[in-house]
Amino acid sequence: MFRVPALADTKFKTVLDELVGKISCKDLDEIFIGNAPNSKGEVASSITERTVSELGIKNGELLFVTYQASQVAPPQKSSADAATIQISSGLVPPLINKSLGPLSVQQLPVDDLLDGQDGLIKRPRSQLCRHGDKGMCEYCSLLPPWDKKYREEQGFKHMSYHAHLNELNEQNKNSSSSYISPLEEPDYNIDLKCNNGHLPYPRGICSKCQPPVITLQQQQFRMVDHVEFSDSGILNTFIDSWRHTGVQRFGILYGHYEPFEKVPLGIKAVVEAIYEPPQHGETDGITLLAWENEEQVDQVAQLLGLYKVGITFTDLTDAGTKNAKVLCKRHKDSYFLSCLEVLMAARYQLTHPNVSKHSKSGNFSSKFVTCVISGGLQGDIEPRSYQVSTSAEALVRADIITASTQPNQLYINKSDDKRYVPDVFYSKINEYGLEVKTNAKPAFPVDFLLVTLLDSFPLEPTPMFASGFAIENRDFMGELQELRAASRLISSSRENEGRLLVDFHFLVFLAKINVLGSAEFKLLLKYAKERNIDDLHLLQQSSGWMSLLTILLLA
Ligand code: ZN
Ligand code: ZN
Repeated sequence: MFRVPALADTKFKTVLDELVGKISCKDLDEIFIGNAPNSKGEVASSITERTVSELGIKNGELLFVTYQASQVAPPQKSSADAATIQISSGLVPPLINKSLGPLSVQQLPVDDLLDGQDGLIKRPRSQLCRHGDKGMCEYCSLLPPWDKKYREEQGFKHMSYHAHLNELNEQNKNSSSSYISPLEEPDYNIDLKCNNGHLPYPRGICSKCQPPVITLQQQQFRMVDHVEFSDSGILNTFIDSWRHTGVQRFGILYGHYEPFEKVPLGIKAVVEAIYEPPQHGETDGITLLAWENEEQVDQVAQLLGLYKVGITFTDLTDAGTKNAKVLCKRHKDSYFLSCLEVLMAARYQLTHPNVSKHSKSGNFSSKFVTCVISGGLQGDIEPRSYQVSTSAEALVRADIITASTQPNQLYINKSDDKRYVPDVFYSKINEYGLEVKTNAKPAFPVDFLLVTLLDSFPLEPTPMFASGFAIENRDFMGELQELRAASRLISSSRENEGRLLVDFHFLVFLAKINVLGSAEFKLLLKYAKERNIDDLHLLQQSSGWMSLLTILLLA
């Protein structure tokens, strides 16, 4: 038993540093800290960044440490050692709740909002009810937001992320008195540093460093339920590039996440603008080129309260029927996202992690969406949004899958020096209603990794931006972002209180030509965001604005 002094705001890392000096194990991934003698508790490496008070540890509390004693050659059966540390934290007021709580990380506002809600589903009084107006029975009682039958009745394929989270929290509450992080990202990587009685992989392997057998199945929840384009014009302008040239187009969706009321505890991505980064389009595909001003575009977006919420691309082929119809190429008998697109979506999701205080790592999956614009069953041009599952993200992270020559199949890589590929199965329900597991090697259907979202346009659109200015990187189709175009826009904006100035593509153009001073540009963005006419008048009197007008006059 050791005594480790600490203050309320001491990071637990400091406590652990003192502890490892006293025991034979130094690896924080091998040490577990629990608050009862027979509970394994949390792996030490996962709680290093939290303070003693965040962990709810009170003065004089006993913690129990479990670890493997370090091995002395020759290899022998490992023996588990145990020790206790007594935390002495003089300034910590006694806490009633001594369980570990959620992490303190900065989540999106929509997650903070939904975290506080139970999402219970109200049901109307049914014909089977035998009680008065104020009563309640099994036919009309409130349902939890994850209720499967309700989802089936409503035709939702997936429950929302927060419904899933609430269900896990509820299960944990029933099974354990201490806090368990409800979310954990799957990890299919082999631990290349493991030397638990063996040389590190590929020269040795043990049950601890070897990733578990992977069973893929349709993910029950989705991180985002719905994609809403704030105005159909945004999408139309994007599709116009294909209409005028016949080559495909790629765009970045800028917007924000909001609650989506049609699904219990749902979230929607609201798209306010599509930015078209440098690219080379062809009739059957797109090559993305270096995007040099990406950071600048992100900064303009950020000052407007926006961020990247996804990507979109067209896959359009004229049906040749002269009535604006296009081919329906993506359906249940072909594919919805090709294997290459699934890999791309997974990579985008991995680079745009979703921050969650309910996850051990502080991140859980992603809210980044992939929207394909292609032909629907009736030959109309339609947006269809998807995400890939947490398993897909983990498969890509561990370099386990590769595109195959069949667009609807993903190939499973072979093990090598750096990669250990475990057995992979996919499970589906057969025609007799029984679950059948199929070996996924060498290739498996991409559908097992897909999550489908809903798409729509609002009935009464209130888009943030006006449109009219030339779109970036469209020189190949004769659409130029030049000073003369800016001059025309500014002259016509005089009539409607500068409404036309509030065009995302124009604002990014202004940032690029860098004539306005930083304070003046911020004032314009403030006007774009809040629409206070005084800000616009102030801007129009500024010296930067005068210089801009002068430059435009000369253009
Ligand atoms: Zn009832
Ligand atoms: Zn090992």
